[in-house]
Amino acid sequence: MNESVWMQHLTWEEVKTAIDDSQGTIILPVGSTEQHGPHLPVGTDTMVANGIAEAAAREAGVLVAPPLWFGWSPHHMVLPGTITIRPEILIEVAYDMVESLHHHGLDKFIFVNGHRIVNIAWLQIAGERAKRKLGVKVALFDPAYMSKSFVREMGWGEVGHAEEIEGSHMWHLYPDLVKMERAVDHPHTPASLYHVDPAYPEDTLCYVPSSPAEQEVLAQASGGTGGMPSKASREEGARYHNHLVKRLVEVVHMLQG
Ligand SMILES: [Zn+2]
Repeated sequence: MNESVWMQHLTWEEVKTAIDDSQGTIILPVGSTEQHGPHLPVGTDTMVANGIAEAAAREAGVLVAPPLWFGWSPHHMVLPGTITIRPEILIEVAYDMVESLHHHGLDKFIFVNGHRIVNIAWLQIAGERAKRKLGVKVALFDPAYMSKSFVREMGWGEVGHAEEIEGSHMWHLYPDLVKMERAVDHPHTPASLYHVDPAYPEDTLCYVPSSPAEQEVLAQASGGTGGMPSKASREEGARYHNHLVKRLVEVVHMLQG
């Protein structure tokens, strides 16, 4: 295996060797480019996916594809730096990435999603089509689902936006890009029927679209943050990261088994 697990760092000859060495397995980080409050960079969702993918790939001896830096983010267009791509385009891009890589001999694909619930729908559609048309194995690894027990243990609040979960993780991975002193808390308002967090114990609607007007309220109140970034901890971010890396390595082995 080469020193770098990132495909874009390798020559085609090195890619060929890496494909053979990886039992045809590749991790594809997918995120977004969107506002993440006054304290986190707009690349946060892609960066956390990259961080998990890189560490797990190194441990499991597999490749990582160049990240997809864009997701479906219409609800964050109220603040600058957000780029939203239509989900019908994203389905085609994700499918074409898999089809191209399959052409070169890869047949086990793990999408790591850094952009939570809004990316899941189109990744599921692309993944299902790839499995049906190409006969490949596809898995979708989502940190919110893969850390349900861990987050409860940490005493962190529900999944929000740029909250203590993302804040802790980014603080651990990219401390120079985090401006925690600029963070503004915006506690979750109690809602009886809708929680974004899959770990939430009560019955809940699975998805309610967020309107630009609602996001404008959040932008005014907290600069785009939903949750309690003041609870973020660099040490807990490291534990959270290690938990996710371990789970992703398990998924790689499951697909290879
Ligand atoms: Zn995010």
